[in-house]
Amino acid sequence: MDKVIQELKELQVGKVLENEPLANHTTIKIGGPADVLVVPKDIQAVRDTMKVVKKHGVKWTAIGRGSNLLVLDKGIRGVVIKLGAGLDHMEIDGEQVTVGGGYSVVRLSTGISKKGLSGLEFASGIPGSVGGAVYMNAGAHGSDISRVLVKALILFEDGTTEWLTNEEMEFSYRTSVLQNKRPGICLEAVLKLEQKERDAIVAQMQKNKDYRKETQPVSNPCAGSIFRNPLPEHAGRLVEQAGLKGHQIGGAKVSEMHGNFIVNAGGATAKDVLDLIAYIQKTIKEKYDIDMHTEVEIIGEKR
Ligand SMILES: Cc1cc2nc3c(=O)[nH]c(=O)nc-3n(C[C@H](O)[C@H](O)[C@H](O)COP(=O)(O)OP(=O)(O)OC[C@H]3O[C@@H](n4cnc5c(N)ncnc54)[C@H](O)[C@@H]3O)c2cc1C
Repeated sequence: MDKVIQELKELQVGKVLENEPLANHTTIKIGGPADVLVVPKDIQAVRDTMKVVKKHGVKWTAIGRGSNLLVLDKGIRGVVIKLGAGLDHMEIDGEQVTVGGGYSVVRLSTGISKKGLSGLEFASGIPGSVGGAVYMNAGAHGSDISRVLVKALILFEDGTTEWLTNEEMEFSYRTSVLQNKRPGICLEAVLKLEQKERDAIVAQMQKNKDYRKETQPVSNPCAGSIFRNPLPEHAGRLVEQAGLKGHQIGGAKVSEMHGNFIVNAGGATAKDVLDLIAYIQKTIKEKYDIDMHTEVEIIGEKR
């Protein structure tokens, strides 16, 4: 790893941190160290980082704002590439917006709403990055990123970059082609919005935000929805019906506000969260014969 670190530093890719605790980079405040964490200073720096990674055959992991992540206690081997400052450019051209993969979705939706651009009202309370939203096809209130995305610029492991169209992204419920089929890093996205009445957009966003505050533990360290909805059922409702709200293992607790959120009630480890997830899955299977699959991305070294 020393050679990798040396080359990344020589190439001046941006911040290069060794043994960086990932608890500092996840919203649930859990996660062991990354061997190396790079915060690239621009798009070229992401390309350079990928070149070094490939040359040395080390593992890479892209992260954004860590709002859908459970990083295991042993951390992540190899290079973690965090898209944030450096990839947070944004340009508006009429109804089209070009935005960096590291741009905050909350900041984006707020910013464009003030310009009277509609299409991202659903995203006003999603605390992720544009790249993470594209990877996850993040959504809420009956909409998702696939409704507005025209194309995304993806850097693949072999060092090539390609614009993938909306169709090529193969979006469906909380999934995209990036998840398994074509792993890559979303560097930039082009979105098509619609000019509408500014006040109506801002009011809708406020309504969505208020609803969130009333129903989700937004001020507690958490990682969003833990389970995908086993449609037509709702994960949160099943957990509540099963009497599991408030159930706690170690520092991990099922939110009293929303059954599909696990909060870090203080000092939680990834193991606590995994044990709680397993307990919920077992209970729901026994009570309702329904399999619950995780929406939160569980990453890192297992043992
Ligand atoms: C309080 C709260 C509320 C939430 N509400 C919602 C909601 O309503 N709807 C919803 O969909 N989600 C919600 N989430 C989950 C989360 O915000 C979204 O999934 C978001 O899109 C994740 O973005 P991120 O930048 O934080 O990604 P991360 O958590 O950093 O990463 C998530 C996954 O995306 C990948 N990834 C990240 N950046 C990139 C990139 N640039 N290129 C390729 N892959 C990348 C990572 O490898 C990882 O597998 C919520 C989370 C919280 C904490």
